[in-house]
Amino acid sequence: MNNQSIARRGLMFVLSSPSGAGKTTISRRLLSRDANLTMSVSVTTRPPRPSEVDGRDYIFLTEEAFARLVREGALLEHARVFDHHYGTPRAPIEEALAAGRDILFDIDWQGTQQLKQNARSDLVATFILPPSTAELERRLLARAQDSPLVVQRRMARAADEMSHWPEYDYIIINDEVERAVAGVGAILQAERLRRERQTGLSEFVRSLRGTD
Ligand code: 5GP
Repeated sequence: MNNQSIARRGLMFVLSSPSGAGKTTISRRLLSRDANLTMSVSVTTRPPRPSEVDGRDYIFLTEEAFARLVREGALLEHARVFDHHYGTPRAPIEEALAAGRDILFDIDWQGTQQLKQNARSDLVATFILPPSTAELERRLLARAQDSPLVVQRRMARAADEMSHWPEYDYIIINDEVERAVAGVGAILQAERLRRERQTGLSEFVRSLRGTD
């Protein structure tokens, strides 16, 4: 018997950062090495970028379809970022948590605040900072998926987003991606071992004590 065999509730693992801080790379590495972690696929009204696939990166919706989901209460949180709406579909998350699967969220500080209000005990929130402003700009330009105007706006917004770091449980400075991935992996591992998440412990300890 090890901790993996004990029934537990999944957790909501939020990674936030200004765009370009390396969050997407860190998320991909984590997902590829951790079979119990799945990505929450958000809905958005933003048009897809060339490399993005509908249903994998986002579920791309019209303004009307998004507004309907909000009205129906089908989103766990939602926010306006830049000129577009983003939100997290509720049903797949609730199902995964109950089944003991962990969900990775790439959402902004506004969404994180809403999850804090609605689901604090399931939430582990980590903020990723870039090592410097120059490096942040270099990464945004290197990505070249957005127009120069969009890059400029993202830089301006980055300063604003970074001011929200005190609202997070953990802070990682992404100076070297492998080190950042190891740090995030350690947070995940420790949070999985929290007593209150290991819902099968009472039963296990009863069996250890021979009182069943
Ligand atoms: P992008 O357009 O670059 O994919 O994402 C822009 C911002 O929206 C990022 O900061 C990302 O974390 C945030 N975002 C993506 N999906 C969601 C969501 O479902 N909810 C919230 N609140 N923010 C999101």
